Amino acid sequence: MKRLCLGLLAVLLLFVGVLVVRALMVRPANAPLAAPEPEVIIDQRQVSRKLSRALQIESVAQRQVDPYFEGQLTRMADFIEEEFAVVLAGVSFERHERNLVLRWHGSQPELAPLLLLAHLDVVPVERDTLEDWTWPPFSGEIAGGAVWGRGALDDKSSALAILEACQELMQSGRAPRRSLVVCLGFDEEIGGARGAALQAGRFEDEGLAPYLILDEGLALLEGLVPGVSSPVAAVGVAEKGYATVELSVAGEGGHTSMPPRQSTLGILALALARLEAQPMPARYHGAASAFLRPLAGEMPFLQKLLVVNDWISAPLLEARLSENPGTDALLRSTTALTQASAGVADNVLPLRARARVNFRIHPSDSIAAVLEHVRRTVDDERVDLQLAEGAWEPSQLSATTGAPWQDLKRVIEASFPGALVAPSLVLGATDARHFAGLGAPIYRFSPMRLGAEDLARIHGSDERIAIRDYLAMIRFYLRLIEG
Ligand SMILES: [Zn+2]
Repeated sequence: MKRLCLGLLAVLLLFVGVLVVRALMVRPANAPLAAPEPEVIIDQRQVSRKLSRALQIESVAQRQVDPYFEGQLTRMADFIEEEFAVVLAGVSFERHERNLVLRWHGSQPELAPLLLLAHLDVVPVERDTLEDWTWPPFSGEIAGGAVWGRGALDDKSSALAILEACQELMQSGRAPRRSLVVCLGFDEEIGGARGAALQAGRFEDEGLAPYLILDEGLALLEGLVPGVSSPVAAVGVAEKGYATVELSVAGEGGHTSMPPRQSTLGILALALARLEAQPMPARYHGAASAFLRPLAGEMPFLQKLLVVNDWISAPLLEARLSENPGTDALLRSTTALTQASAGVADNVLPLRARARVNFRIHPSDSIAAVLEHVRRTVDDERVDLQLAEGAWEPSQLSATTGAPWQDLKRVIEASFPGALVAPSLVLGATDARHFAGLGAPIYRFSPMRLGAEDLARIHGSDERIAIRDYLAMIRFYLRLIEG
């Protein structure tokens, strides 16, 4: 017995030893600290003023056609044509409605082209939040070293930074190595059906086969990953799918003086409570592990121990990450109860009760898996289930090996010395999903620094970008485009 115990102890010690050694072997994988700057001097005053003017245009994408905002969206496209006339004169340029496409012939045209995406529309500013803005949202105020306004982060800064980079290169007599295609949409915030989706179809028809596609999505995160002090360049290699399920219960209705034991509303409420109590399964392996692994070298020892040995610690990591909505969403398809309606008066039983539940689908799930989960979880034939229109599957996973990824990683590391590059999952939706048919790897990364306080500014109040960060964005695109 004693020998057996000693034997087990030895095995246990060996096992722990292996885990610890694996953790100790992981070193920080930061980019080299000193990177040469591209030999281009950017006129800080000029580029920030131009961005400011772009932010003054109220190019709000609206689901319901509104003549004022339609005019503003047109003004935005006109603005680009006028302000970047020098660039557009040197490239081939197409305008479809307000979707802008620019093509610059590379010095090695036999190479597959680079496709850069951005959008010029923005989300509206809610009236009750106007007071929260330090400067009016469409003032484009330049103050405190930043340019302020709706679109400063999402996504006019990217659109303009790409064009500024083209202009700088052109004016210094340089050209990209690969041909460059830039596509600027005008309805990303409402799904991209008229802009990106139609343009993607045109690209498919002409057989455009990009080397890589880069769109917005994630960014350079500072102080946002617990235990990691270096900035983390989170690059979206996939984005979630989307499905809304409508639940409805029909009943007898009638007078509330003699109610049945279960009303339509009660049955629906139970179904909703079940869905919320039982989320879809979490999976650490995949998006979460791919993101955390490259960061392990910098984590405190215990955290590192878990991440490096995730073949055994995955359940622990899942439990930990699911405590926070931001990281929980990396693990699973999320369930959000969003709309409900029933009843017309307090003394009438509702004939019908309805609700909508929105799912953001993890790449390891599908629309079919969501429907199956809802059916099994609700487990009540009285509840009718329908998939609402406008669902889409999660994207494919873009490779994190191979030349396109390595090239992008190199440009990020050169632009943001000391940053850790980590592939991740975009939890929302971007225009990029429309371009999946082109068959190229799609990466979703805005080259902008985001701290904890900046996250709330995206689609929120006091959206702004530091001029220093905007210049870094231009330099990033310069490197990427020049190749
Ligand atoms: Zn955006």
